[in-house]
Amino acid sequence: MMAIPAMTTVPDEPPYRRSDRRRAAGRGRRGAARKRRTWPGHLALMTGVAVMLAGLAFFLAPTGQVSTLGLVQVNGLTYAVPPGVKVSDLAQISSLLARPGSTLDLTGDVIAVGAGTQATRQIDSVALSEDQTLADGTLIFVRHGEHVLESVRRVTTDIPFGTTVTGKGNIVTPVQTGTPGLREIYKGTSSGKQAASFVATVPEDAVLQWSSKVQTGQKLAALTFDDGPGTHTQEVLDALAAAHAPATFFVLGSSAAGSKGMIAKIKAAGHEVENHTWSHPDLTKVSAAEFRSQVSRTSAVIGGTRFLRPPYGSSNASVKAQAAAMGIRLAFWTVDTLDWQHQDLDSILGYVKSGTRPGAIILMHDGGQNRLQTVAAIPVVVNWLFAQGYSLTIVDQIL
Ligand SMILES: [Zn+2]
Repeated sequence: MMAIPAMTTVPDEPPYRRSDRRRAAGRGRRGAARKRRTWPGHLALMTGVAVMLAGLAFFLAPTGQVSTLGLVQVNGLTYAVPPGVKVSDLAQISSLLARPGSTLDLTGDVIAVGAGTQATRQIDSVALSEDQTLADGTLIFVRHGEHVLESVRRVTTDIPFGTTVTGKGNIVTPVQTGTPGLREIYKGTSSGKQAASFVATVPEDAVLQWSSKVQTGQKLAALTFDDGPGTHTQEVLDALAAAHAPATFFVLGSSAAGSKGMIAKIKAAGHEVENHTWSHPDLTKVSAAEFRSQVSRTSAVIGGTRFLRPPYGSSNASVKAQAAAMGIRLAFWTVDTLDWQHQDLDSILGYVKSGTRPGAIILMHDGGQNRLQTVAAIPVVVNWLFAQGYSLTIVDQIL
């Protein structure tokens, strides 16, 4: 806590000081009628400056007893008071006796009246007691208490960095990692009011660059989402957009047929839409006719097929031969996040961390059951990949 000086160190000057000679002169005869007079009464009255305090008017007895007024000095100013007046009575006139300081908040507003340092009241260097009677000629010295300003607390908060994106294409490369800034905020510990706020460190934007041609030595990774479109596909799209990441969606024809608007949306966002069969059979166990039906019906719905991802990753020589005969390439994965099995973010990120190598194709799911953890994992996974220097792209750029 820091103490600040009070506005004044002596009582406020009352308007009824004895220096008002004209008023005092008019009351001179009353003063002259006093029977007993000690210092400084005589001198003061002879100069005609006896004034009754307006604030002490209630002390005045009926006419005739005025002559019993005594005189006291407070910080060198002389005041007339009735007999028997105590220090505590005098304190009712706030302007006369020193007041205690208060506690103040940062803006100067009072937190607690009188809770600052206390006033000092002395008679000849001896502390005044509240019930002490003010005898005629008493010399009082008072000093205001000091206001005490509340202490200030410094807190810091991060300022998030933005992302600057340049270029066009389906490969996004981290050119510069972002650095959060730092804001310092000063607040009153009692009031909680904010005194000041400074930007101590300016955040530095992350910079991502889109391109369409793979560079020599470029570390690529692709995110893929299977079994959609489903109820969580829009959330996956939103998360990818926020993370500035492209992806490949291996959709089921049976789902896509009823969600052509969503298929268009996925493509419009720059992602790749590919074939995951019509109804998710194990392709090693279906007839050649069924194989062609599963693939071609889906292909018709999504507008063509370059890649087929066999359900369950189940494949054999027959599957490969049939796909090749249709002019379609198979697309498996190199990292299985098992997001459908272990629905927690740390687990998903753990599989990505341990399994990702340059050229990685990472498997997740937008279709199926609850995909909230998959959605939550997207920014975390993307940021980790960017931090490792990976460029993200679609399957077509890797296979
Ligand atoms: Zn699947």
